[in-house]
Amino acid sequence: MLNFDDEVTASRIPGLGLQAARGFMPTSSAPARQELRPEANTEALRRIRVEDKRIINGRTDVNQLVPFKYKWAWEKYLSACANHWMPQEISMSRDIATWKDPNGLTEDERRIIKRNLGFFVTADSLAANNIVLGTYRHISAPECRQYLLRQAFEEAIHTHAYQYIVESLGLDEGEVFNAYHEIDSIRAKDEFLIPFIDTLTNPAFKTGMPEADQQLLKSLIVFACIMEGLFFYVGFAQILAMGRQNKMTGAAEQYQYILRDESMHCNFGIDLINQIKMENPHLWTPAFREEIQGYMKTAVELEYRYAEDTMPRGVLGLNAPMFKEYLRYIANRRCQQIGVDQLYPGASNPFPWMSEMTDLKKERNFFETRVIEYQTGGALSWE
Ligand code: FE
Repeated sequence: MLNFDDEVTASRIPGLGLQAARGFMPTSSAPARQELRPEANTEALRRIRVEDKRIINGRTDVNQLVPFKYKWAWEKYLSACANHWMPQEISMSRDIATWKDPNGLTEDERRIIKRNLGFFVTADSLAANNIVLGTYRHISAPECRQYLLRQAFEEAIHTHAYQYIVESLGLDEGEVFNAYHEIDSIRAKDEFLIPFIDTLTNPAFKTGMPEADQQLLKSLIVFACIMEGLFFYVGFAQILAMGRQNKMTGAAEQYQYILRDESMHCNFGIDLINQIKMENPHLWTPAFREEIQGYMKTAVELEYRYAEDTMPRGVLGLNAPMFKEYLRYIANRRCQQIGVDQLYPGASNPFPWMSEMTDLKKERNFFETRVIEYQTGGALSWE
């Protein structure tokens, strides 16, 4: 156990890739030696010019939010704040009655809920760690950092929401929170993600050389387009389908708010990726794009395995094979959003109703309508 006289170092706290902040620069790009050189200090003290700002490896002061260069990031930060919600604002009383009623749900429906929470209760903690201990320190644009701070809090709200559902329904906490160790289909998804998270959270990892910058870009793509952009979608569709059938509507409402947030995380990540590409075109090689396609293919297979595991039989008008097409459709969309060739030409969306709730078709309309509904206190409907 630590006492207050001990010197705390990163190596003493397993799993925490903490590193002391250095001056005004992100750790990735801080030129340590230059801090000692008078001419470098003069440069650091010069007023910020918009044209000098960069998403990665920037040399401008990260503590000065303005002048804005990346207005899309600031706008997303404002929209995210306007969407603020808390899990306990949503009543779970009907869900509790349904869960306790022996005839309230079928065994297959109960399996979906438990597996679903089994994935999500730890997924958003992984996401939060990835942002706080990883991504944040490698991004040198303060308006993007501002969004990441908001995003990190939203990941905490999501973990809170899943915990609140588990607690409300009186589920076995040990079983649900350990699912990512104990359920193969969940573990396989997390094992795919963890090396990419480890890259960013490794205290020794620094950007600045093309190979490292490609590693960062790869991790950002896996995080936004695969984790938040694909691995969440079987689970979201299942619980929202339940809500549409007027079952577990409290949980479904929580998931709908989470989906709205995640949809924006994914879109922010895509904007970030595309901006890094524009500023660093040398990173976007044919070999790099091919590697991304390979990850996307693996991710579709892993998420499909999860669909099969959570739905061994047809349930709620859904079945695993429908998800094969859905995942291909989403993967195409993610590839297209970052400028990678599509992998599954002609794949179509078997769940058009999901598009009304996600970013897949009507990003702006979705957010605009939902923000207004939430701010006026209107309930979500499940038609
Ligand atoms: Fe997220």
